Amino acid sequence: MKTLFEKILDGEIPSKIVYRDDLCAAINDINPQAPVHVLLFPVKPIPRIAEAEESDAAILAHLMAAAPKVAKLCGIENGFRIVINNGRDAGETVPHLHVHILGGRQMAWPPG
Ligand code: AMP
Repeated sequence: MKTLFEKILDGEIPSKIVYRDDLCAAINDINPQAPVHVLLFPVKPIPRIAEAEESDAAILAHLMAAAPKVAKLCGIENGFRIVINNGRDAGETVPHLHVHILGGRQMAWPPG
């Protein structure tokens, strides 16, 4: 079974891909929680951060390195938040690891 993000990458579900490289891609969130709300995810369908393996370390580093590039592409380099929801209590709904990149408004702390 393909994940939602695999289907998007394969063109089976429409979405605007705002960034793509060999290891990861970013799309606009369908239900944005900020003026800019992008989901950055690895091409490899790692289900969630808690299930990433030692051998995925380079992919995880790549995601963190790509996040500020995506933020800059989206014009939010002056301030952005990155969030990874892991598991039910965190509100994870898509079991394909993804980094939320949010910006374009003042963020509150603590998060809800
Ligand atoms: P999470 O709840 O952390 O697993 O994040 C999943 C995110 O995927 C949510 O913010 C949803 O709004 C978003 N989402 C669900 N379906 C789509 C879709 N077809 N295209 C873009 N984003 C989606």
